[in-house]
Amino acid sequence: MNTLGTNITLNELQEYLKNKDYNPDAAMAYFYKLIEEVGELAEVMRKNKRQGDGEIKGTIEEELSDVLYYTACIANIFQINLEDSFKQKEELNKVKWGK
Ligand SMILES: [Mg+2]
Repeated sequence: MNTLGTNITLNELQEYLKNKDYNPDAAMAYFYKLIEEVGELAEVMRKNKRQGDGEIKGTIEEELSDVLYYTACIANIFQINLEDSFKQKEELNKVKWGK
């Protein structure tokens, strides 16, 4: 299945992208796309382009979604479960920063 419901989890997002956009031989291509999207995010943040009640195109909301998209694609290539990794990293952060 290749659909997204409401209130999706990070696992469901990764599953969705595995079915939609997965090429294990293209890790660096996904990485370059991620960097490109981070650059686009920088621009819309500098211009404070928010979606508000309008379209998502050209907004911080759009570019953050793009960054999440390619982050999840890269995780899929390396067979990384982002939910697990995020929880483990938060445990490290708790020790390091006390919160
Ligand atoms: Mg973009």
